[in-house]
Amino acid sequence: MTNRSDLTLGRRTMAMLDELARYSDDPQRLTRLYLSKAHRAAAEATLRMMQEVGLDSHIDPLGSVVGRLAGKAPQAPALLIGSHIDSVIDAGRYDGTLGVVLGLVVVEALREAGIVPTCPIEVVAFGDEENARFPTNLSTSYAFSGNYKTEWLESADEHGAILRDELVRFGGNPGGIAGIKRDPAAYRGYIEVHIEQGPQLEAAELPVGLVSAINGVTRARATVIGEAGHAGTVPMAMRRDALAAAAEMIAAVERAGAIRSDTVATVGVTKVQPGAVNVIPARVDFTLDARAPDDTVRHGMVTDLLDEFTGIAQRRGVTLTVEPFMDSPATAMDKTLLGVLENSVRSLGVAPLHLASGAGHDAVAMAALCPVAMLFVRCKGGISHNPAESITLEDGDMAARVLLDAVRTLVS
Ligand SMILES: [Zn+2]
Repeated sequence: MTNRSDLTLGRRTMAMLDELARYSDDPQRLTRLYLSKAHRAAAEATLRMMQEVGLDSHIDPLGSVVGRLAGKAPQAPALLIGSHIDSVIDAGRYDGTLGVVLGLVVVEALREAGIVPTCPIEVVAFGDEENARFPTNLSTSYAFSGNYKTEWLESADEHGAILRDELVRFGGNPGGIAGIKRDPAAYRGYIEVHIEQGPQLEAAELPVGLVSAINGVTRARATVIGEAGHAGTVPMAMRRDALAAAAEMIAAVERAGAIRSDTVATVGVTKVQPGAVNVIPARVDFTLDARAPDDTVRHGMVTDLLDEFTGIAQRRGVTLTVEPFMDSPATAMDKTLLGVLENSVRSLGVAPLHLASGAGHDAVAMAALCPVAMLFVRCKGGISHNPAESITLEDGDMAARVLLDAVRTLVS
């Protein structure tokens, strides 16, 4: 098969992305928080686009936009394609929206080619992936598998607005959430295309890559307690410096992430008390975030780290407490869907690169409903959650052609 393209699909993709980028809560930058005015406007624009490409569409009770093409066998298990249209504050225009738009581009291309799918195709634009406004977790996609937590409705944003009230203001319906739940037997799979948000595809000079797994995550808070003292009068040998102990632990975290392949480990927050130039630190609180595509590897990494922390604390005479607050398992990709995507990547002349996703995605929640697979698209400098986020027209076109080829294989 030829690898040439007139970039028609890429241009269509970019035009739809431009349209959605117009909707922002802040005129100076792109911010589209869940249930905001801009989210509503973007959801309505997505609904119009779905209708234009021939999907039977609606905005569901939680604000997700869903469009369905019945195909030849409306009762057959459907193929889902999607991602999210909410964003972080001061975001880029590709994170999430790319995966929604590509679903529409593919449906439009199928129609133009006169192909009627053998099973229904559903395109979905979730609204609460970024977790940037309320303390939820993939709430709109978890609703699809019946895993919406009702306590999320009572959660507040930083201005004190309650999710339930904001949902009603948006035009949603808290009473309709249970009805969003899908029957697993009615879905054959979910495919999400997303920008990579990392530098690996760029380094490998590849436009797209196959996600091997979505990393599992452990998070914990650690507290080191030593003893405060005068920075001028307490001799070095008699100190119990909490910060010097924590510094050794933080260096151990960096090493632990680096010595295994595919793992990452980060200390993102530290707080030093009392925090004065002439006082030996008495207490340090820090966070741990450790990720791996394999749960056994991740748990082993964290156990080794805690042993190392304990050794450091004992040697330095400080006390240590560690409080885990998240243990989110890795999400495996479905071998069949991944195989179809890999064949499409190869047939378009691209070497198949498999890479783990360090970030979470709606696919994590959708894995509770049906088989999932993801395709990553190269983004400039690996940058995301930033207005500098960008993909090229050519890469957008390649992603659209890979998805079109994979969907054709699955629905013909
Ligand atoms: Zn995203």
